[in-house]
Amino acid sequence: MKVILAGMNIDMSLLQLMEKALLEEDERSRDELIRLLKNGALTPETISAAYARISRSPLSVEELRSQAVREVEKARRSNEKIIYGMGHGSIAEHAVFNFDLLGISRLASEWLQEHRLLSFTEKSQRYIKLGKDFITPDEIKDDKELTREFRELLERENNLYNRYYTALLEYFKEKEPRISERELTGKAKEDARYILSLATTSQMGMTVNARNLEYILRQMAASPLYEVRMLGDEIFSLVRDKVPSLVVFHEPGEYDVKAWRGGFPVKTQRLDPGPDIVRLVSWTSDGEDKVVAGLVFEDSGHDYQALLDNIKTIDKKSVIREAMKGINFYDSVDRAFELATATFEVLASASCYAQLKRHRLMSRLTGEYTPGLGVTVPDSIKEIGEEGSFMEEIERVNEFYEKVRLYDKNGAGYVLTNAHRRKVVVKANLREWYHFVRLRSDTHAQWGIRALSEMIREKLHEAYPLLTGQLMGKDAFIRMRNEKKGE
Ligand SMILES: Cc1cc2nc3c(=O)[nH]c(=O)nc-3n(C[C@H](O)[C@H](O)[C@H](O)COP(=O)(O)OP(=O)(O)OC[C@H]3O[C@@H](n4cnc5c(N)ncnc54)[C@H](O)[C@@H]3O)c2cc1C
Repeated sequence: MKVILAGMNIDMSLLQLMEKALLEEDERSRDELIRLLKNGALTPETISAAYARISRSPLSVEELRSQAVREVEKARRSNEKIIYGMGHGSIAEHAVFNFDLLGISRLASEWLQEHRLLSFTEKSQRYIKLGKDFITPDEIKDDKELTREFRELLERENNLYNRYYTALLEYFKEKEPRISERELTGKAKEDARYILSLATTSQMGMTVNARNLEYILRQMAASPLYEVRMLGDEIFSLVRDKVPSLVVFHEPGEYDVKAWRGGFPVKTQRLDPGPDIVRLVSWTSDGEDKVVAGLVFEDSGHDYQALLDNIKTIDKKSVIREAMKGINFYDSVDRAFELATATFEVLASASCYAQLKRHRLMSRLTGEYTPGLGVTVPDSIKEIGEEGSFMEEIERVNEFYEKVRLYDKNGAGYVLTNAHRRKVVVKANLREWYHFVRLRSDTHAQWGIRALSEMIREKLHEAYPLLTGQLMGKDAFIRMRNEKKGE
């Protein structure tokens, strides 16, 4: 694992001084820059401190920033007082960091990406051909035999990955002769990777503000995964001197440990996992009325409750038609669509979940990956006649998973593959579902998440027939719009 602090926001005046000092060789700027840097001005804390004072100071914000850069220690004291004393935590959001994260496992990257107020861009197993890039979990490192078996398993999976990749290239070339070379290799990688383990390493760029950083550091320190705890330590070591007044509560409390390492002490009967892959659990039964009343409310100044009470007198179809007029594929639907929500329970492979979790405005609850929920085998793997070898390997994985779980249950997750599944409860409002379906029902989307998106789309259409007339992937939407233009 390697963590690099790639960037952070510092006051622009420092960069301007640097430009003058270096490019214009201005002596005074150089001396001033050195003085400020020696005083610790190379920190995003000064921007937080200046903005924190905006609401109560008669000075201009420009002057406040200039003061903070000149008096860093005072700025730090002010931050601590305002953020932790007064509870004005959003001040810390004005300090932003970028990190390069290299060589971390898919399991750890998944853990990290559960956090919704961060930005991530990750190496895609759809686009990059993988070598033997995996970690050996620390949880089993003390047991030589387990470690040896783990490595053998992953080496075998890697060989299968390469074998499938080669066969899939032939398969897709034959199936879609006009496919470009890039698409062809992409499709082969996309499906071959289902046999790879969650110990496979990844790299990503992560952007996070100091408020969230403090929050995730606390959670990382409480994580059951050793790798995540180490990652948290690495990240903290890179920022501790940069933002001491903004990242204060980074140690986990009892509450964090309970949340992440706990397990609920409630006994339930064994529940039927259910046959559906996507189940609509609940939705806003009068959601269409609420959205329509909301749309009219925004434009009319009427009382919202009165609009709801008189909804029968409103022509809902024409209100929705009017609201959607002129919408393009990159536009969000009106905020009123947030008044209707839908909660689904879905069964997702790790491959599919890796994409689902990137939608940060949804509420998600995740069950564990477990062999008991079966695996998702790509159709292409079946069609190249490799389903047998795939399932044989999965059997081995499942047996080894049980062995590791008895030794250290936290290490067991690394053994499972991209094909293994978990149950996820996911709730979002119709505005976010529109965004999700636009991206994920589109032809560019990977087939697993696309199938999920289509099932969600159908169920949303049943629940909200009037509101979902334009709920479709980007490509279908553009087609529909062009057809309408041509009429
Ligand atoms: C075809 C395809 C290929 C992809 N390939 C890759 C890849 O190779 N690597 C990779 O890492 N990811 C990849 N992704 C994932 C993609 O980058 C997004 O993370 C994912 O689609 C979630 O969408 P989103 O960020 O628009 O929105 P959501 O998280 O669903 O949020 C909805 C909307 O809210 C707003 N929003 C949410 N959070 C913020 C924020 N912090 N700042 C500003 N606005 C915000 C935006 O308007 C956003 O569109 C791919 C996605 C697709 C569809």
